Amino acid sequence: MYTITNVGGTPGGEAFLLVTEEKAALIDSGFACSAGRMVANIKDILQDRPLDYVLLTHSHYDHASGSAYVQDAWPDARVAGSVYAKKILEKPSARAVIREMNDNAALLAGISEYEDRTDRLHIDIAVSEGDVIGLGTMKLRVIPAPGHTKCCTAFWCEEEKLLLSCETLGVPAGGGMVMPCYMVGYGLAMQSVERLAALGAEKILTPHRGLLEGEACTAFIENAVYWNKEFMRRAREGRRAGKNEAELAREFKELFYTPFMAEVQPEKAFDLNLGYTIPMLIREIDGE
Ligand SMILES: [Zn+2]
Repeated sequence: MYTITNVGGTPGGEAFLLVTEEKAALIDSGFACSAGRMVANIKDILQDRPLDYVLLTHSHYDHASGSAYVQDAWPDARVAGSVYAKKILEKPSARAVIREMNDNAALLAGISEYEDRTDRLHIDIAVSEGDVIGLGTMKLRVIPAPGHTKCCTAFWCEEEKLLLSCETLGVPAGGGMVMPCYMVGYGLAMQSVERLAALGAEKILTPHRGLLEGEACTAFIENAVYWNKEFMRRAREGRRAGKNEAELAREFKELFYTPFMAEVQPEKAFDLNLGYTIPMLIREIDGE
């Protein structure tokens, strides 16, 4: 028996609390500005029980920032993430981006004051392929899933057929669409997508949108495979038709920046991601 609850402090800064009979883990940790509300939400559920882990799917500001506030309330909670995420979170240049993006998220959420703890971001347990996080009887196997970022990682519970996924699979954009989020490389992302799709998950925790079960899980995974390929197909077609970076970016924004997507992703973050993705795709296509 386990439960998964969205304890995020504000839309876009989703964080999910996984509670088993013996242990509790927070999956991702949202923005800095909403961390206080998130911690309160977690306390409401856990009461006197400890929080054992914070599992970070990657190092982006909307997933990792809240982790710097959690250890005040639960000093024994260990933050786990990939080896590469650990490196990123310690980099001054990455911290500068995280700080700026958190300020933007705070502005959008109408939160004028929050404590900046970017310099405390860290990972206690650097995990890699095959490592296991034990939540009592529930075992989570680490499956690196680079593609969205190099530091993306998923966690897989074979017994429950439960996949705690990351943004390399993409983000539901509404109406069965899944917005691809590959920023590192198409080929690399597709390897991860195919690997995660082949696990046979019956339940999937999607970043920002939460738990999908049964048919919704199957449909999301099928749509993720489809749209990850379709995005590249359209980019190739556009490139052959002579479209430049700005034209492709405009086309993709029209397609994927739906009101549904806008609920969980600030426009600035969307544009920033697209600003990495489109030039990367163009380089791959032009090099083919
Ligand atoms: Zn991300």
